[in-house]
Amino acid sequence: MPSTLEDFEVIGTIGTGSYGTCKKIRRKKDGKVMVWKEMEYGSMTESEKQMLVSEVNLLRELRHQHIVRYYDRIIDRTQAIIYIIMEYCQGGDLASIISRNRKDGTHVSEDFAWKILIQATLALKECHRRKNGKAVLHRDLKPANVFLDADANVKLGDFGLARVLQHEHSLAQTYVGTPYYMSPELVNNQSYNEKSDIWSLGCMLYELCALTPPFTATNEGDLKRKIRIGQFPRLPTQYSLELDMIIRRMIQVEVSMRPSIDSILADSVVQRKQDSLN
Ligand code: ADP
Ligand code: MG
Repeated sequence: MPSTLEDFEVIGTIGTGSYGTCKKIRRKKDGKVMVWKEMEYGSMTESEKQMLVSEVNLLRELRHQHIVRYYDRIIDRTQAIIYIIMEYCQGGDLASIISRNRKDGTHVSEDFAWKILIQATLALKECHRRKNGKAVLHRDLKPANVFLDADANVKLGDFGLARVLQHEHSLAQTYVGTPYYMSPELVNNQSYNEKSDIWSLGCMLYELCALTPPFTATNEGDLKRKIRIGQFPRLPTQYSLELDMIIRRMIQVEVSMRPSIDSILADSVVQRKQDSLN
């Protein structure tokens, strides 16, 4: 039976993002705490609405221990609001962890960085492996979209919704804010592919450790030039050469040299770290 708004009570507001507000909710029948994202669709075009619906339907099929679980959606036609109901991630997102460390002058531990690397890679593998046809490309991998559950395990979130809710024709619109993680192929107006997600993953892991993105600039032109050249400093020296190396391989300008998900997971250091996680 489809859920209705009456099945839940709102506990509080978590935050407001670019496309709506996230609220912490409780399911009345069993007390389970979840979140919903409220999005107004009143000003969307018919085709944007169609895309939103099909995207949400797709999300419902992505079930993986490192992907934020989407449970349901409720459409309130009188208010023109869609509520997307999903798993609550108690540990917050990586963006908050990065800014906290930056503020305190501290760094995440090497082990934490490896754990994020491995679990985020496993989540991406699940997206990219979609059978009946197309891979789900995340396209918006950034610290704010990587959540942690109560046990500090990765939950990748916000799939494609960002993409649905904006027009794809211009890069300026594809990226809200400074596109620090934009891959060289996107800079060169080539098409997005699985390897572009790997680039963004590398940039995100780099920022998690270095507390600054690998490429920074005060304007988009300079940023694009730096991305095309692809040179960036080593991670802070408290991080191992192995970690620096694997992140460096992900941020490889030449697409064919950039590792696939499977080759990251087959890496001997990654395998050793993965064994120690389990
Ligand atoms: P944004 O456009 O900034 O991504 P969101 O609507 O996705 O905005 O998120 C708004 C706030 O809610 C952010 O602080 C985000 O960390 C938090 N949030 C989003 N999804 C979840 C979730 N599943 N569990 C816990 N917090 C979440
Ligand atoms: Mg978000």
